[in-house]
Amino acid sequence: MNMTFERVKKQIAGKPEKVARYIKFCSAKKRKYGKAVKRCRKCGRRGGLVNKYGLRYCRQCFREEAEKLGFRKYG
Ligand SMILES: [Zn+2]
Repeated sequence: MNMTFERVKKQIAGKPEKVARYIKFCSAKKRKYGKAVKRCRKCGRRGGLVNKYGLRYCRQCFREEAEKLGFRKYG
C-alpha cells in the first residue's frame, strides 16, 4: 500500500510537534486551477472529464447520465 498523507499522519499521531511539522510541509497545496481542481460531480474521478456545457461529469458517468440529461445518440 502506498504512503498516503492520512496514513503517515496516523503513524506519527503520538508525536505532536512532528505532526505539526508534517501538516505544515506535507499537506496538499490548495489549487485554483489545473487537473487537481476539476473532479467528476458524481464519482469524484479526475480523469476523462466532460467539462463542456458545464457538465463536469467524467466520461464514464456522462455515459450513464447522458440520456437523462437529454443527449441523444446519432450515427
Ligand atoms: Zn464520474
